[in-house]
Amino acid sequence: MPRSTFSGIGYDVHALVEGRPLWLGGIEIPHSKGLEGHSDADVLIHAIADALLGTVASADIGHHFPNTDPSIKGIASTDILSRVVGILDGHGARIINVDATLIAEAPKIAPHLDSMRARLAECLRLPVTRVSVKATTNEKMGFLGRAEGIAAMAVASVERDEADVEQPTAPPAPPPGL
Ligand SMILES: [Zn+2]
Repeated sequence: MPRSTFSGIGYDVHALVEGRPLWLGGIEIPHSKGLEGHSDADVLIHAIADALLGTVASADIGHHFPNTDPSIKGIASTDILSRVVGILDGHGARIINVDATLIAEAPKIAPHLDSMRARLAECLRLPVTRVSVKATTNEKMGFLGRAEGIAAMAVASVERDEADVEQPTAPPAPPPGL
């Protein structure tokens, strides 16, 4: 059975607030503010997770991990990512690569990129050479430029057997509690 390549795209943004730790790419980064959210608000991992779910057309992390579910309040996004890898396994998808960009005016991201790549590669069960993380600023323009939040975008590619792709899948289960 022939194998085909599929791509997915992900985007996420969270507000920067006082009194929260800053988690990016599974790494805690020293900063005066952190990202607001139901989970640890790791915007980079959320964008990557959505890109991965997109490769198998399986909705998004808001569907799989709804912020109305008290059982996942404060969940580490590295756990979310590992669970998304499990969802891909269930679809017979093998991850080829992940590429992501963080858009942050502050703090300086560059010194942490290698640690993020290593941590992400571990969660994704991939060699680090298949995981790319880049960072840029928003040139001081707009809410990102005023450092009111941090955004991330990601693309992912996977390889799948055509037989797995053509298999009709059951409609996604409703979020727990609904
Ligand atoms: Zn998010």
